[in-house]
Amino acid sequence: NFTTRAFAEPLKNPGELIDSVETFIFDCDGVIWKGDKLIDGVPETLDMLRSKGKRLVFVTNNSTKSRKQYGKKFETLGLNVSEEEIFASSFAAAAYLKSINFPKDKKVYVIGEDGILKELELAGFEYLGGPEDGGKKIELKPGFLMEHDKDVGAVVVGFDRYFNYYKIQYGTLCIRENPGCLFIATNRDAVTHLTDAQEWAGGGSMVGAVSGSTQREPLVVGKPSTFMMDYLANKFGILKSQICMVGDRLDTDILFGQNGGCKTLLVLSGVTTLPMLQNPNNSIQPDFYTNKISDFLPLKAA
Ligand code: PLP
Ligand code: CA
Repeated sequence: NFTTRAFAEPLKNPGELIDSVETFIFDCDGVIWKGDKLIDGVPETLDMLRSKGKRLVFVTNNSTKSRKQYGKKFETLGLNVSEEEIFASSFAAAAYLKSINFPKDKKVYVIGEDGILKELELAGFEYLGGPEDGGKKIELKPGFLMEHDKDVGAVVVGFDRYFNYYKIQYGTLCIRENPGCLFIATNRDAVTHLTDAQEWAGGGSMVGAVSGSTQREPLVVGKPSTFMMDYLANKFGILKSQICMVGDRLDTDILFGQNGGCKTLLVLSGVTTLPMLQNPNNSIQPDFYTNKISDFLPLKAA
């Protein structure tokens, strides 16, 4: 239910866009920071928007940290952002389970890193798995059978740099042997930019492995799915037409905004370049594009 626009326009009048919405949702990597490096002009831009009374929300598909851990990252970068303003896909997984009243006597099997474990714990869910699970070669003697906990009612899959075959098999058993078991993905990013040097296999690769073996499609809680947008609109009581989604990626951020019926702004400070935006094969067009969020600030004297 999103509209495709003919062509994105360069952002000529940032003041007009700012006045037209009450909330800005910022993607993190490529918009606020690149890896561990703050992007130019971000603190001043966020301060300016706050001084104009805008609500600021930060959404990231990176599930490796909890919102508390992201809070520390914002603080380290000198940004005045509270945990309550941060919505990572790790948090979204726990929030989703809460939203469906996932039974507290059931367990969650996690393929992913610390952020997901921390959020599940905070939400009061029992979990198993996590980064340390498995890791040794599975020796297959005749008749060998891998046991699994029959109380697992959901498998959550996110980005996992410790991914291994044991985890695939465990998650597969949970899902295939219990048709009622939920299969939740924090995100399906095909590639991610762990370093500037190259693209790296993203969270979609771990999700794809489990989807391949179970022949089930996961429920995605991160961008571009509508779960987080609905959650935010509900939580803050905001109209989606009063939101501008700002991101550096077309297939996650801009689609997320468009799926929600929000205004969208693409920044070129991350993974998308102008030629990629303008490539005839690209059908995802934001309302506007600009180089970086500090283009919101009045032009500085040379
Ligand atoms: N997933 C992982 C593992 C990442 O490292 C990143 C970016 O660094 C992302 C997802 C995308 O994050 P964001 O949604 O903040 O751009
Ligand atoms: Ca991004």
